[in-house]
Amino acid sequence: MQYQAPINDIKFMLFDVLGVEKLAEFEKYQDASPDIITAVIEEAGKLAAEVLQPVNRIGDEQGCSYDPRDHVVTTPEGFKAAYAQFVAGGWASLDAPVAFGGQGLPHTLKFIVDEMVCSTNLSLGMYAGLTHGAISALYAHGSESLKATYLANLVSGQWTGTMCLTEPQCGTDLGLIRTRATPRDDGSYSIEGTKIWITGGEHDLVDNIVHLVLAKLPGAPDSTKGISLFVVPKVLPDSGERNPVYCGGLEHKMGIKGSATCVMNFEQARGWMVGEPNDGMRAMFTMMNEARLMVGMQGLGVAEMAFQESLGFAQERLQGRALGGAKNPDGPADPIIVHPDVRRMLMHQKVLNEGMRALALFTGYQLDLSVAHPDAQVRQEGDDLVQLLTPVVKAFLTDEGFNNANVGLQVLGGAGFTTDWPLEQLVRDGRIPRIYEGTNGIQAMDLVGRKLGLKGGQLIARLFTTVSDFLADTPEAPHHAELAAALQRLQDATAWIASKGLADPEEAGAAASPYLRLTALTVIAYLWSRMASVAQRQLDEGVGNALLLQGKVVSASYYFEKLLPESVSLLADIKSGKQSVMALQENQWQV
Ligand SMILES: Cc1cc2nc3c(=O)[nH]c(=O)nc-3n(C[C@H](O)[C@H](O)[C@H](O)COP(=O)(O)OP(=O)(O)OC[C@H]3O[C@@H](n4cnc5c(N)ncnc54)[C@H](O)[C@@H]3O)c2cc1C
Repeated sequence: MQYQAPINDIKFMLFDVLGVEKLAEFEKYQDASPDIITAVIEEAGKLAAEVLQPVNRIGDEQGCSYDPRDHVVTTPEGFKAAYAQFVAGGWASLDAPVAFGGQGLPHTLKFIVDEMVCSTNLSLGMYAGLTHGAISALYAHGSESLKATYLANLVSGQWTGTMCLTEPQCGTDLGLIRTRATPRDDGSYSIEGTKIWITGGEHDLVDNIVHLVLAKLPGAPDSTKGISLFVVPKVLPDSGERNPVYCGGLEHKMGIKGSATCVMNFEQARGWMVGEPNDGMRAMFTMMNEARLMVGMQGLGVAEMAFQESLGFAQERLQGRALGGAKNPDGPADPIIVHPDVRRMLMHQKVLNEGMRALALFTGYQLDLSVAHPDAQVRQEGDDLVQLLTPVVKAFLTDEGFNNANVGLQVLGGAGFTTDWPLEQLVRDGRIPRIYEGTNGIQAMDLVGRKLGLKGGQLIARLFTTVSDFLADTPEAPHHAELAAALQRLQDATAWIASKGLADPEEAGAAASPYLRLTALTVIAYLWSRMASVAQRQLDEGVGNALLLQGKVVSASYYFEKLLPESVSLLADIKSGKQSVMALQENQWQV
């Protein structure tokens, strides 16, 4: 089935709920008029359906190949041409800095395009996705000379970027890094070591690949405090010489087979430091925070495609009769969409997907306010919410994106399990976003262990105020009482973690994942109430797309009746504490 970008849903959220047309009032985004935003979204939808989707299946079937004789990686048939079209259309540079050839459009638009790219070709999207993070890290922390050397070609997509953190002995715990950087006389560094699982480490889409590499200087502290960041190009831009950084092989994996996941050997390759010595983690976090939001969109993208496929199937597949009497009396059976259990699966996907999209766009909008609003207070509020919600977007959208792909597969019955349908690929591709860019467990630890305590609790307080202000200002909002109760549960959970977790960090660790989920369900409840409130108002006024608006009102009811009640059990889970998680002794796991 050809992908249909969810343009109407996106526009409803952008313009009717969030009011992103305000962005054009700020100097930074003066070009982002509603017409431009709409045109970008519509064109992105076409690109996804017409250029990226057609090579998605072949990417899965062929995967990337590696030739050990010259360390060359070849991407699947059609990837090179599709990437060239992506770059030629300016899609790689949408929100990149104008000073280096980018279009400087709002980040919210980038979120939207990311979703569409990932619905139609997650693997291909990875090459540009990682590049974007490299641009941000260099832009924020690189010297003027590094920026001048690398940024324009990265922004245009003529070169791609990578993020080289992981090594065989260190994934989550980057303090264990062994890659070394030895100073040379000319101010550059000699980089030596092996990185594994490097996305886009080697490929044939572009002529040069710019690696951002974490390494340790001689005598650096033996922890994350001793890590520095280096830029290591495949081809040296000044001389055109090949730098000795080679792909040593490709990973064979369950999904995203068109994305080259490489072992990278740095054999005294030349590199240049980005930022200050031993301050590499800070620079890398610029890249990772951005990448985490992008990975969240991967989850949503996969879920949206799975929904479209399963909806189309459910409307066509004839099995059984509707419980309330035949709906297709002239046919041999009714389409399966008449069955309450199938509808439950479809509603689950639709309502969660729209809720997750609302969460992503809300976060994207806060990001734009944090960089563009003239009032420092508003910028600060936006930044606080983005910091708080980044791990939530990454983890919840990838957990539920994967789960929704699975629900979609279930709608197809046996057909979903076969390779005749794209659901099994979506499920396989949709599994990895829960793991990379920091596993979802680590996102929960980031939320509870870092973000809750930051600035004396200011970030979470900002979220509470946002929701309680809405409740106070909109007493007529649909599901007002349920939202107020959900907010109270999140506040209870936060207070519990603040008191217990401070005294015993294991209590906070055991509560982290359910707490992240509770936060996500509560913010999405707030956004569903906002969406339903706008929809009801427009329906009462007789404006807008009535079918969409009525759907929003029903979907909000589904969310509050069927999905939000999980927040009750999550609070109980959190408050039950660590005891049953931690009590087993080493000799009791298997007896
Ligand atoms: C397809 C693919 C692409 C990738 N691309 C890149 C890339 O481009 N660049 C790059 O540098 N890396 C990349 N990675 C690596 C990826 O980021 C890591 O796999 C990930 O960060 C987890 O590290 P790990 O696999 O070593 O797991 P481990 O760190 O060994 O963790 C194993 C499990 O233990 C848990 N755990 C570990 N420590 C803690 C803790 N302190 N508290 C609670 N739980 C903990 C984890 O959540 C996880 O469930 C990629 C991986 C894959 C599979």
